[in-house]
Amino acid sequence: MKLVVVGGVAAGASIAARTRRLDEFAEIIVLERGHHVSFANCGLPYFIGGVITDRSRLLVQTPESLREALDLDVRVGNEVVSIDRAAKTVTVRRVDDGTEYTESYDALALTPGAEAVRPPIPGIDLDGVHVLRRMGDMDQIKAQLDALLTEAASGRRGPVRAVVIGAGYIGLEMTENLRHRGAEVDVVELADQILPPIDHELSVPVESHLRSRGVAVHLETGAAALREADGGIDVELTNHEVLRADLVILSAGVRPNTALAREAGLELGAHGGIAVDTHMRTSDPFIWAAGDAVETPSTVLPGSGLSPLAGPANREARVAAENICGRDTEYHSTQGTSIVKVFDMVAGGTGATQRQLIAAGVPHRAVHVHPSGHAGYYPGTAMMHLKVVFDPETGRVLGGQAAGFDGVDKRIDVLSVAVRNRLTVFDLEELELAYAPPFGSAKDPINMVGFVASNVVRGDLELWYAEDYPAAVEGARVIDVRTPEEFGIWHLPGAENVPLATLRSVCGDWDTSAPIRLYCAVGFRSYLAYRSLRQRGFTDLKTLSGGSTTFRAWHELDEPDVAAQREPMENYAETHSLFALAPTGVGASIDLDCTGLACPGPIMRLAETVTAANAGDEVTVHVSDPGFASDAPAWVKRSGHQLVSIEPEGPGYVAVIRKGGAGTMASARPASRGISSGTGGGIVNGPGKTSFVVFSGDMDKVLASFIIANGALAMGEEVSMFFTFWGLNALRREQPPKREKKLMDRMFGMMMPSSAQHLPLSTMNMAGMGPVMIKSVMKHHNVPSLPELIASAHTGGARLIGCTMTMDLLGIAHSDLMDGVELGGVATFLGEASESTTTLFI
Ligand code: FAD
Repeated sequence: MKLVVVGGVAAGASIAARTRRLDEFAEIIVLERGHHVSFANCGLPYFIGGVITDRSRLLVQTPESLREALDLDVRVGNEVVSIDRAAKTVTVRRVDDGTEYTESYDALALTPGAEAVRPPIPGIDLDGVHVLRRMGDMDQIKAQLDALLTEAASGRRGPVRAVVIGAGYIGLEMTENLRHRGAEVDVVELADQILPPIDHELSVPVESHLRSRGVAVHLETGAAALREADGGIDVELTNHEVLRADLVILSAGVRPNTALAREAGLELGAHGGIAVDTHMRTSDPFIWAAGDAVETPSTVLPGSGLSPLAGPANREARVAAENICGRDTEYHSTQGTSIVKVFDMVAGGTGATQRQLIAAGVPHRAVHVHPSGHAGYYPGTAMMHLKVVFDPETGRVLGGQAAGFDGVDKRIDVLSVAVRNRLTVFDLEELELAYAPPFGSAKDPINMVGFVASNVVRGDLELWYAEDYPAAVEGARVIDVRTPEEFGIWHLPGAENVPLATLRSVCGDWDTSAPIRLYCAVGFRSYLAYRSLRQRGFTDLKTLSGGSTTFRAWHELDEPDVAAQREPMENYAETHSLFALAPTGVGASIDLDCTGLACPGPIMRLAETVTAANAGDEVTVHVSDPGFASDAPAWVKRSGHQLVSIEPEGPGYVAVIRKGGAGTMASARPASRGISSGTGGGIVNGPGKTSFVVFSGDMDKVLASFIIANGALAMGEEVSMFFTFWGLNALRREQPPKREKKLMDRMFGMMMPSSAQHLPLSTMNMAGMGPVMIKSVMKHHNVPSLPELIASAHTGGARLIGCTMTMDLLGIAHSDLMDGVELGGVATFLGEASESTTTLFI
């Protein structure tokens, strides 16, 4: 038997080698148009980055080694230019001299791989614009980069700038490696997220990590034109921004290399790849194909697809070889298991993404969990983001994705086995996985995601999803069951804070039929709340999948309203170096290790430590929770301390916080609106914040409060109003829903004004005549009424906070208060007051 293989890298070399193992006497010729065979293309970015230092290690085999070990006739620099199927011959062109010859075959294997997509934009062929497919591409990129870096090191030029077009796996690997060498990198991506092969919310933590490593990310835009300029290249984007580059890496995807097959009349599939059967045989019985050029059935989705990955290429090749040698071996499907390292993070997935399931109309449900990669108390772990999609009826696992710092590969591989073997989420609950503290948890993240998904299928848990917000919470009470401290740092607009610890004691008078949407940080506490309320008769309950962690991933990078609450962290990643304040040299230095603690652990430990410190002391806190990057500045802002610096460290951050107090308050003032530049800079004050304690229930005093509040809002200030004792009557609903009341509560209810409309005047009340006269005078002078002022303050963004202690004392329930009133205790008020420029007690 004479086998001719076209292409000699992943699939080609595998077919040739496997054929030899099965047929010692076959004549095997491998024709490769490039000058290398069987090289490790997956390692190319790492040689450019200097991680792999020995180039020869990438050359897994050479023509000589393949001849010696397997008696293969490997001809590099030989391109197959046509196939004569009738004569069973191929025409081969010698790349070096252009001469041609004909080679006959009994069996032909096509493994021509894929080619990089080169968008047809002006300047795409300029010097300095590269793709990375082959050893030669790698050598060119590395040579240019080395030369630029040498010039930069000698001071003959500024920093080296690279633009990477395409934020897929290869684009991000190149980004990391260029950055690793010291280049400044801009990544440009047409989609609204990096890593298009994974779902949006899983890509966001990786994007934040990328930014934290100093990479500029430009989403929803592409390269429109490339132009030579001042010895470099101007990359004009479709959003009209122009990026200056010294070198450009094009990683805008690949397309199957099918010219030969198409010209030979072989059938192609729906996605443009070579069509093959389960034996990897093409529409010609003497021609097989494998690798990036073919289409194979999807394990989960209907139909076939392209999957340009090394694993499938090698397995398809093995199947093709077995069939070429007369065996009956089948290749069933490809599930697209893939993984990428992005600096210290790892992300990947297997099976279908939710986006693909939606596009294909496949019914499914999703769950999100955020466990740590291994036991939190053992160093070196951080939060992992894990998502599984499954059949809502049977629980069959349809796909899974993970992003995190440690143990991501293991979880993706377990899910890959689950998808391949049609396991269900109930099986995930049961899997017995390797555990010791450095590797996992007794309840492995895979078990955890199985528990949650099984709860959903069994009907023990109903979820609402971040991507469905705000429709998912419309007409519902949104209850945040985290601690007031966490609530203070960030919460959903309009959410009520009912910490889990207090939920059971306060929910007694809640309407059990009212829709309630719960959430916490990752979904666990809200699940506990859900179970408690469900068993107390609440009927319309849902809890947020993945909690605020998933929610923020969905919404914060895009939504200015929510993002504004995170100031100044929105800009942190790109400008974090600006966060370095001048060291004071006074005060003690305290080291605090919070690695392995999940939110709110780091903030709580930090709060304890800073409280015990003296003004001016500096706490250096090490945290592995990536959310700390946004939580720390918000907490510092609220508590009147200073963020001296925050830098990426391992999976998380190291931050230095200087305790506020005497001598530091000037620069520790709150209400930051921006970050000044320069080392001596600090937080710059913008418009301030006014907070009120409304103690009085007198109409004139409440009126005055709201007039000032509306004025402050009009001046661009933030306003926070804490209603305690009689002041709370101003927030009572005109007609609250009926509920059972204890005797004392009924009596208080009868004695107190039933709403803002019925408040008395502080003087000249005259048995109610005074208020009537005031209202009429106000109307006459076109002064808005108290209810109108309240409504306008509320819609203007004022936080109206009801004092929970007063509510307990006076028997007022949350349902007695107007919509949108938040609940809070003295800590909430003090938190608000501490960051206010003006605080009024009325
Ligand atoms: P290739 O390995 O590309 O080989 C095809 C060969 O055919 C080429 O050498 C080509 O020159 C030759 N050829 C084409 N036409 C002809 C012709 N007419 N005559 C003669 N020869 C011809 N996958 C992963 O799973 N994980 C990774 O981490 C990963 N990293 C990657 C990083 C980079 C930079 C690149 C480029 C790819 C990476 N891949 C990765 C993808 C993986 O390398 C491919 O899926 C795999 O190599 C496909 O194997 P193949 O044999 O089909 O194609």
